[in-house]
Amino acid sequence: MYQDVMLHIGGEWTGAKSGRTLDVLNPATEEKIGTAAHAERADLDAAIAAAETGFVAWRKTSPQARAKIMRKAANLIRERADTIARTMTMEQGKPLPEAKGETLLAADVIDWFAEEAPRTYGRVIPARADGVYQLVVKEPVGIVAAFTPWNFPLNQAVRKVSAAIAAGCAVILKGPEETPGSCAELVRAFADAGLPAGVLNLVYGVPAEISEYLIPHHSVRKISFTGSTVVGKHLASLAGKHMKRATMELGGHAPAIVFEDADLDAAAKILAANKFRNAGQVCVAPTRFLVQDSVYDGFMERFLGAVAKIKVGDGLEAGTTMGPLANERRIPAIEGFIADARQHGAKVAAGGERIGNKGYFFQPTVMTDVPVTARAMNEEPFGPLALVNRFASFDDAIAEANRLDFGLAAYAYTRSTKTVTALGHRIESGMVSINHHGLALPETPFGGMKDSGYGWEGGAEAIDSYLATKFVTQAS
Ligand code: NAD
Repeated sequence: MYQDVMLHIGGEWTGAKSGRTLDVLNPATEEKIGTAAHAERADLDAAIAAAETGFVAWRKTSPQARAKIMRKAANLIRERADTIARTMTMEQGKPLPEAKGETLLAADVIDWFAEEAPRTYGRVIPARADGVYQLVVKEPVGIVAAFTPWNFPLNQAVRKVSAAIAAGCAVILKGPEETPGSCAELVRAFADAGLPAGVLNLVYGVPAEISEYLIPHHSVRKISFTGSTVVGKHLASLAGKHMKRATMELGGHAPAIVFEDADLDAAAKILAANKFRNAGQVCVAPTRFLVQDSVYDGFMERFLGAVAKIKVGDGLEAGTTMGPLANERRIPAIEGFIADARQHGAKVAAGGERIGNKGYFFQPTVMTDVPVTARAMNEEPFGPLALVNRFASFDDAIAEANRLDFGLAAYAYTRSTKTVTALGHRIESGMVSINHHGLALPETPFGGMKDSGYGWEGGAEAIDSYLATKFVTQAS
């Protein structure tokens, strides 16, 4: 059912040279379901050598030819979506329909960047002298080291890989060790679609060992990382030390503001679905709920009603709407946030406990009256924990929304166009979604500000981060 996962280096699927492997567990059963090859220095050297060869050929391949291979890879992913989704659910825990949705969206991401490949325009600057042409040209930046996490095993990887490949770069992807199988299927689709050997290489291992080796490496020119702010800051400083370009997609702590003129039915339904999707292990998950005093009771009744309908279970079982947490360490992490918030005087309005002792299942949890001194109000909970507080005025809500150093996503519900406009101006966050949940589409920019990182992973902005600008001036 679950295929052991190999490294992909120079167009070949291979075990680690040392023969070492990592165990892969199913978070719903805690059973070992397979292994992933564990790369060490010799494997990384092979991946670098392969990427060097791949880059030489790929940068010369026309954008149209790149796009053709990419579209083929996208179609292979669509054809294989059921199998890929099953693999993802087994290793990550999310409900099968969510895994299928992620897989199909990954195909759309590839198609989007395939379309962008021929549009990496430069420009011509009018010259001061007759017969002079001043050209701004865009070139692939070089070999990319990409580091992607376990919460969206396919989508975190596909955004980096597709943008880089469309731009003409070669990639060494360090995929997520805990969820390696579905990420490997992305690489398989590209390989089977005819991507030349060495353009896309896949490794797993000890993340710190791999990043400490690849980031300073002379052949690697660009780093892209998705994960926690603390690790991102460490990798960004390493990248800075070695003058490597970097994209950092880091943690969030999204405010979700419900104003008194909001459509409460829609707000409660959409926010509950997006808070507990993927068991809350989403960097753009709504986390700090701010509800205006006069509608607090009405919102809570609807929100708790929606939360009560969530069915927690094995993602492979029909009807499950929330799977287990993806790994064992998320259980004490969430328990710690809840215990600390309780000590600070917060109340538990729903959930609050682990479910059973087999599988990493946790109740969808809602806490209210949570003081800003509680740890959960300051650190990213990254789990099924909603924190709900009241606010009185627009300015109070904005002050709380902007209080933290995170600035990834923010949500708001209101029927007032004046409030909508003011929110767009005042919220300090890379993405603001008002009256609906509209983030993370292939064609729209995805990224943060402040401690949530820099660079973009969607839309036209994304491909630019894999391109270097060169100025050429020529006289005839
Ligand atoms: P973690 O901080 O140890 O790891 C987060 C990710 O970074 C993992 O994918 C890991 O493999 C990678 N990583 C860790 N150290 C690294 C290093 N030195 N070099 C390269 N990669 C490295 O934490 P975790 O327990 O895996 O996840 C928990 C926290 O991570 C969450 O609280 C959340 O803040 C963050 N996270 C964020 C995202 C996201 O989508 N932004 C995804 C997963 C995890």
